[in-house]
Amino acid sequence: MIQQNGRSLNIGVVGGGLAGLAAACTLAARGHRVTLLEKNEWVGGKAAVHQQDGYRFDMGPTILTLPSVLKRIFSEANRKLEDYMDLVPLDPQWRCFFEDGSVLDLISDIQKMRENLDKFSKNPGAGAGYERFMQISKQLHKVSDKFFFWRSVGGIADTMEVGGAFSPAVLKDVLSLRMGRSVAGLVRSCVPDERAAQMIDHFTQYVGSSPEASPAVLCGIAHMQTEEGVWYPIGGTRAVPVALEKLARELGVDIRTSIDVVSIQNDGQSVRGVTTASGETFQFDAVVSNCDSVRTHRELLNGTATEKKFEKRRKYEPACSGVVLYLGLNQKYDHLLHHNFVFSKDPHEEFDYIYRQGKPAPDPTAYVCAPSISEPAVAPPGGEALYILVHTPYLRPEHDWSKMLPEYREVILDKLERTGGMKGIRDRIVCEASLTPEGIHKRYRVLNGAIYGLASHGKYLGAFKPANRSKDLKGLYLAGGAAHPGPGMPMVLMSGWIAGDTVDNDHQAGQLAATAT
Ligand SMILES: Cc1cc2nc3c(=O)[nH]c(=O)nc-3n(C[C@H](O)[C@H](O)[C@H](O)COP(=O)(O)OP(=O)(O)OC[C@H]3O[C@@H](n4cnc5c(N)ncnc54)[C@H](O)[C@@H]3O)c2cc1C
Repeated sequence: MIQQNGRSLNIGVVGGGLAGLAAACTLAARGHRVTLLEKNEWVGGKAAVHQQDGYRFDMGPTILTLPSVLKRIFSEANRKLEDYMDLVPLDPQWRCFFEDGSVLDLISDIQKMRENLDKFSKNPGAGAGYERFMQISKQLHKVSDKFFFWRSVGGIADTMEVGGAFSPAVLKDVLSLRMGRSVAGLVRSCVPDERAAQMIDHFTQYVGSSPEASPAVLCGIAHMQTEEGVWYPIGGTRAVPVALEKLARELGVDIRTSIDVVSIQNDGQSVRGVTTASGETFQFDAVVSNCDSVRTHRELLNGTATEKKFEKRRKYEPACSGVVLYLGLNQKYDHLLHHNFVFSKDPHEEFDYIYRQGKPAPDPTAYVCAPSISEPAVAPPGGEALYILVHTPYLRPEHDWSKMLPEYREVILDKLERTGGMKGIRDRIVCEASLTPEGIHKRYRVLNGAIYGLASHGKYLGAFKPANRSKDLKGLYLAGGAAHPGPGMPMVLMSGWIAGDTVDNDHQAGQLAATAT
């Protein structure tokens, strides 16, 4: 594309997670010169892979929803996603195991789900309640599309700018957001079955936040998943960054790994470039930081007025962290689907431990991914590359996971045997690895080991994250799970697209000039 406002910009992207890659691709597709600097040896950030003894494990994200976001990034460059990866749909989407021995599959067809819930629940009206919830979820999804998505938003005022004058239609949309209500409250006002409610609550775990403290607008996630489905990329989730890296290189992005950025150079008004740990400096017209937004300010802009303004604006809380067990099994469990949740007995107690007390839950919910059903090559014949994720509190000073993990591993395996029907699991393990909150903290340089950026807590402002365009420093843009619109693969990909689009729009509007060589 020919730049209408003079020369193309020279842009630095700090961090090559999914958001950094999405920003780099979007900017390069718009004709800008892009250099991506990543401290690790690989790009993709949390979407990493672990291979051991013939088993292949996705290390981080495994549930891919909203493929339309990924498609939009490829279409920026007039490319088709299908030419870069094979996606297969998964429906049923989740299999849910409850402490009382009952099992419920989440399927995308709302009518069939209604019928299934009426059979599953002793409470009359469970199916109708689910249908009612999904109608509200659809409405919330639509409002999110209109006010939050595909643009840089940092607070209520930004959403109003988008909606234009405060018309009755806007007021209706705002009221439909059910501000002041929590996810858990809204779910239970519709669905009279506690197990079904616990299942629906878990959409909030996609953003690492307590359903009891998160705003009801997040109930829109349920409809996002039902509408577009759950997908598995052949090759694992790792196929997503691999495809994005290929696209980025085709578009001329200069990708440099093992480069640790230690500061963002600026003159107090505008970004000038970055400095790396080895003392190298890069001059840039703009910087997109895919590093955690709080750490971008505290570490890369340490001691500056920009940092002070950011810290003063709002206190952000890290989202939850997690323990992941990667278990190579010599025999798979045939009763598992690709995605499974083994639920805690008491969600209120579980969330209280994780989000209020800051302690690992003694009876946790375990997410279990058994991908061999979709791609047998992940394990030797008949085996399974079992992935188990249990959410834990974000890192506190008193947590020492090198001491806590052995005991918590037993809690998790006992839970899988007791509630998930995985009897004799210890005898099937032939190889094993794990990731703890400390590992997550160090590998991805996140805030207190948070998996999903910043918590969405606060019934009014919880959904808002730092805007993609810095309010405090010209030429600084934020992308990733700790920036708008938040965490999870589709949202961080959108975050990267928004950051790239905003840089480009600012350039077109004459607010960013090409000066760096
Ligand atoms: C165990 C786990 C399970 C998950 N499950 C799911 C799931 O099923 N579905 C889903 O949608 N999401 C899931 N998520 C969340 C999802 O993975 C993240 O929201 C998303 O991948 C984050 O992408 P990102 O680009 O924001 O950040 P990251 O992936 O963290 O990338 C940031 C990159 O920046 C680099 N970096 C940071 N600072 C610097 C610096 N100073 N210099 C150079 N490089 C730097 C880091 O090394 C990293 O590579 C999961 C996450 C984890 C950890």
